Amino acid sequence: MAKLVVLGGGYAGMMAASHLEQLGDEFTLVNANDYHYLTTLLHEAAGGRSGPSNYSIPISDILTKRTSHLVVDKVTHIDREKKKVTLEGGELDYDYLVVAIGWVPEYFGIPGLAEHSLGIRDLDTAAGIRSHIEAQFAEYKKSEDLRHLRIVVGGAGLTGIELMGELMEFLPKLCSQLDIDFSLVDVQCIEAMPSILPQVPESLRGVAANTLTSKGAKLRIGTKILKVEAGVVHLDGADPVEAGTIIWTGGVRANPLLSELGFTCDRRGRAKVNPFLQSVDDERVFVGGDSAWCDDEAGRPLPPTAQVASQMGALIGHNLHVLARGMATEMKPFHASLKGTLASLGRDTGVGDMGGIPVRGMVASIAKEATKVKYLWELGGLRLTADKTKQVVQM
Ligand SMILES: Cc1cc2nc3c(=O)[nH]c(=O)nc-3n(C[C@H](O)[C@H](O)[C@H](O)COP(=O)(O)OP(=O)(O)OC[C@H]3O[C@@H](n4cnc5c(N)ncnc54)[C@H](O)[C@@H]3O)c2cc1C
Repeated sequence: MAKLVVLGGGYAGMMAASHLEQLGDEFTLVNANDYHYLTTLLHEAAGGRSGPSNYSIPISDILTKRTSHLVVDKVTHIDREKKKVTLEGGELDYDYLVVAIGWVPEYFGIPGLAEHSLGIRDLDTAAGIRSHIEAQFAEYKKSEDLRHLRIVVGGAGLTGIELMGELMEFLPKLCSQLDIDFSLVDVQCIEAMPSILPQVPESLRGVAANTLTSKGAKLRIGTKILKVEAGVVHLDGADPVEAGTIIWTGGVRANPLLSELGFTCDRRGRAKVNPFLQSVDDERVFVGGDSAWCDDEAGRPLPPTAQVASQMGALIGHNLHVLARGMATEMKPFHASLKGTLASLGRDTGVGDMGGIPVRGMVASIAKEATKVKYLWELGGLRLTADKTKQVVQM
């Protein structure tokens, strides 16, 4: 029997693994954690909307068959000639491999940004943002130094704006808990491009901006970050901003392991795949999600989104299943079905488009929740969907 190994338990890897399990294949999933987390909701965890368990699922709740094996470890090397994966704690042989090890922040070479900013990458870093802000506000109570109440969010894309929405709900509550005058709090989103949220229809960007500014946020569009030092953001053509909390959400690139291992990569470090999502360098290796460089029908690279990643994962599960059985002609090419983008601006409101129809307010917020339910359904069927949605209702 062919040895199948899946690297990474994010949207692409987990969906591939879940499909392999449903198809009755034996495989090993390697993931850094024993749980799968919902990256698209990490801004909620950063804003403290609910506890980390609401955004993570034990992998043992998703993969339940004895033929599905989980190794909790970190991949450090892949030897494609020997068909061997090196982990921090051991090695694994494979006949076919899925590489879906996700993304890392893109700092665009801005000096000091990586060293002096927080990021929203996983459950720990999301929770870290919340506790950092709490510590800064507690520090203000002792020193009355207003820098502790200043927060800079770099980047006004989906992640930055969703985080802003969450912060503008979380911070007034924190202030009332700590008896701090909320009008002293200064939250600035700094973006080099001329508009926010390029992913949503233009008509809704103003709605999103008004929602945030009406809650006290500042949106500094067309403002370039030149360098960052500890507690100071230097801007092009404007005064430096001294802030106790600096968060960077301005870009992503693929896990650097792919380019280090000699895969053919684009400028964002994503490994080039053929229409069946196999690496162009090795047909025994499938690449999915933010790790994959896959063009759409018009020849443009598909965006790094959970929507695309989970669709890729599902197809990789099928293609790997048939390939490993010697039925390569039954592999199917990948066609992304882009259903729109939804950005939450807090618990009860948002903006976005659903299949080309602009939506806003509570409708967008409900639609966003529905995408989570749909994803859980595709991943683990009724049992998983019922378990996770019950948790939300009980909160
Ligand atoms: C706050 C936020 C909001 C977002 N909102 C949306 C949204 O609304 N809609 C949307 O479509 N997209 C959204 N995205 C983007 C989306 O989350 C990503 O595109 C998606 O997570 C990519 O899936 P993936 O499977 O490629 O990688 P990931 O989901 O990042 O999974 C990678 C997995 O690999 C593991 N891993 C990494 N390195 C190793 C290693 N060396 N060894 C072992 N395991 C490893 C990680 O622990 C992780 O489990 C958002 C992103 C963020 C941060």
